[in-house]
Parts: sequence; C-alpha cells; structure tokens
Amino acid sequence: MKHLYIAGNWKMHKTIEEAVSFAKILRERLSATSHTLMVAPPFTALASVAQVLKGSNIRLGAQNMGQEESGAHTGEISPLMLKEIGVSTVILGHSERRHTYLESNELINKKVLLALKHNFEVILCIGETLAERESGKLEQVIHEQLEKGLAGVSKEAMRSIVIAYEPVWAIGTGKNATPDDAEAVHVFIRNVLAKMYSDEVAKNTIIQYGGSVKPENIQALMSMPNINGALVGGASLKEDQFVPIATVVV
Ligand code: PEP
Repeated sequence: MKHLYIAGNWKMHKTIEEAVSFAKILRERLSATSHTLMVAPPFTALASVAQVLKGSNIRLGAQNMGQEESGAHTGEISPLMLKEIGVSTVILGHSERRHTYLESNELINKKVLLALKHNFEVILCIGETLAERESGKLEQVIHEQLEKGLAGVSKEAMRSIVIAYEPVWAIGTGKNATPDDAEAVHVFIRNVLAKMYSDEVAKNTIIQYGGSVKPENIQALMSMPNINGALVGGASLKEDQFVPIATVVV
C-alpha cells in the first residue's frame, strides 16, 4: 500500500466548538490509518484542537505564520506562539495568501526560514494561475516559486519541507487537475529540486497535490507515481468527505 501524507486546510471555517467536535470525530475515525495526517484549523481553534489531538496520529498545523518572532506586527501570529500550543506544521505560501494578501516569494521565504529555525515542518504551497498556464509560463512560475521560496534552505533542512502543488485555478473551483497533468508538474518539481539539491532530495521530498480533491478523485490522483499525498481544502471540512480521502488505499 502506498504511504500518503493527507492534510486538511480548514481555512476560515469552524468556531472553536465546531472544530473541537470535528477533531474528536477525526481522531476516532482515523485512528487506524497508516497515512501521515494533518489538520490545520483556524488560529482561534488551535489550542482547543491541540488538546483533542494530543497523542493521536493526526498532526496539528497552522494555516500561516508571521515573519518575526515578536514585535509590532498587528494581527500576526509568531512561531513561538504556535510552538507553545503544540503546532508541528505550518502551511506557507498558500495561493490565498499569495493572491488575496499579496504575499511575495521573498516574504514566504522569510517565513520558511523562520519556521525551520523553530523546527516546524513546512508545507510550502506553489502553483500557477490559469493565465500563467495558458500563456505557457507554468514552468517558469513553479521554478521561481521553488527557487525563491527555498532560498537559503539547506539540503538537510529539506527533510522538514513538504511541497504542495496547488494550481490556483483548481482551488475551491471543483475543477481538479487531471492526474496526468498533476503528475507532469510533480515530475517537473522533482527535476527542479534535483538541480537545486540532489537526486536524493528530489526523490525523498513529499509532494502533495491540492485543488478540488474529493472522495471521487482521490484514488486516481494518488495513484500517480510522483504524487505523495494531498492538501485538501473544502472536502476536509466534512466527515463523509475527509474520512474516505484520508483512508484511501492506493
Ligand atoms: C486548499 O485550500 O489548499 C485547497 C486545495 O482547497 P480545495 O480543496 O477546496 O480546492
């Protein structure tokens, strides 16, 4: 059976009460799966969900992280605060952060380096817009996001980096990339990592696919040789969708 890393990004959904009750369900229903699992609730629910998931097989993730340890950064959350709660993983460079909140590759890189300094696992999201894909810029964009996002990250530190390939046009749209299209980009990502680091890093780095993953398409996507897991948005919010995704057998 192929080992996968399935992560759920709850985005700006669920009150503390809703998040706790959903986390309890997931803890129980996913206790037997051997896949690596992670959920990223909103910041307000992190501490409460941490209590529920303590000692379980589900990692706790944050959806974003501030770029400094402390200081005058109204509205931001420091890595120290996330550590204190028990967060193990941070999602950085999500397309909603890049496009709605205009986070640059440089800012994302600063966060990546800070997260690594504090021993977090980082899920670095990359992906092209539809306009970039249609104008033939797919490889250029992916290359730049990897090169700039991972600037200063050592070969050793790459063990703590997961890449999530999330084509922007597939996020929250119901339109997933075909398994072949996703696989082709995952192969390209590995080639870039091989040039930046080594064949070994390229081979060992976990590369998730994200973008309208559902119970109906998880099997076909995860069957592709270079896809190692999924970052799931909308379908991670409901038991009847996330449980089959997180327990898929490939
Ligand atoms: C995401 O938020 O990372 C995502 C892939 O969303 P969705 O699954 O809803 O497309």
